[in-house]
Amino acid sequence: MRCVFVTRDRFPSSMYKKLEEVGRVEVYPYGESPWSTRGVPKEVLIDAARRCDALVIYIGDLVDKEVLDAAERLKIVSTVSVGVDHIDVEYAKRRGVAVAHTPYVLVDAVADLAVGLLIAVARKIALGDRLIREGRASPVWGSLMGVDLKGKRAGIVGLGNIGVAVARRLLAFGMEVVYWSRRRKPEVEFALGIKYVELDELLSTSDFVVVALALTPETERFFDREKFGKVKRGAFFINVGRGRLVDTEALLEALEDGRLAGAALDVFDVEPLPPGHRLAKLDNVVLTPHIGSAAVETRERMAELAAENVVAFFRTGKPLYAV
Ligand code: NAP
Repeated sequence: MRCVFVTRDRFPSSMYKKLEEVGRVEVYPYGESPWSTRGVPKEVLIDAARRCDALVIYIGDLVDKEVLDAAERLKIVSTVSVGVDHIDVEYAKRRGVAVAHTPYVLVDAVADLAVGLLIAVARKIALGDRLIREGRASPVWGSLMGVDLKGKRAGIVGLGNIGVAVARRLLAFGMEVVYWSRRRKPEVEFALGIKYVELDELLSTSDFVVVALALTPETERFFDREKFGKVKRGAFFINVGRGRLVDTEALLEALEDGRLAGAALDVFDVEPLPPGHRLAKLDNVVLTPHIGSAAVETRERMAELAAENVVAFFRTGKPLYAV
């Protein structure tokens, strides 16, 4: 009988039920919220790769060469995420292991959060909340002054599905939207009325830089000291892609020397962000703990889709969404 190994014990029950259609389901006693990005121990993944036919994982569960080398029976890795930077996809291919993910179903939720973060940092929402709770808020003219969105330029870096969804939303706020992506998207430019610009121009002219790139070996530390050196003085930086797209030290410098007016971040190079981190000490930074897709309906759909990928693979030889 096939064995399907799931690294979290509190995914929606519909997921485990679906997986039972194709094999015996083994569940790791993870204990925490299933959506914590703290990965399961390497030995657990190695052991599962050796004994099982399918692995269902979440962000943080590192399926690298070592795990894939242990794959004796493993045929498919299905992640409950669209991002696959925690999986060595090329090596999996070489080892004959399929990789599946959950695109599309989370796009609106992540775009909603990106816009929420943008407004939160532009209008000091999180800071205002903090000041009230600490009994320090005074409704004085001139305090907690933010900036308008209307008429400002938003530059989206990485116009994938999430980037497009963010663009749609920001246009509704009366913003001018420009983008840079490795591939130009004339059809989206035409449909939405947004403009492609070179990256340097985007950085030097945008009031808000919104990052929705995938993390790959080519995009790791994409935002380094040089790029932050090019951003318009007083711009805001929003990242809903992955933390390792950004050199955190360079970001901190840009915030501390005032080049950036603020930042709003859902993702970090180390997750969870260690307590007392320098980012958490800055009033002009809004932080959320990787909750881009954390809406009940979206997360349920992601979990179901990850299971459907496994079922489709064993029934037809192909997952619904192969990477
Ligand atoms: P997508 O449609 O596949 O878009 C991927 C984006 O990354 C595209 O803009 C693509 O550029 C760009 N890209 C990929 N490889 C690249 C490379 N080697 N060099 C330069 N650009 C590259 O995926 P999506 O659904 O929009 O998701 C984008 C990312 O958001 C995911 O990979 C994930 O890391 C992140 N995400 C975060 C959360 C969260 O909770 N914060 C949730 C979901 C996703 P082109 O289109 O121009 O090729």
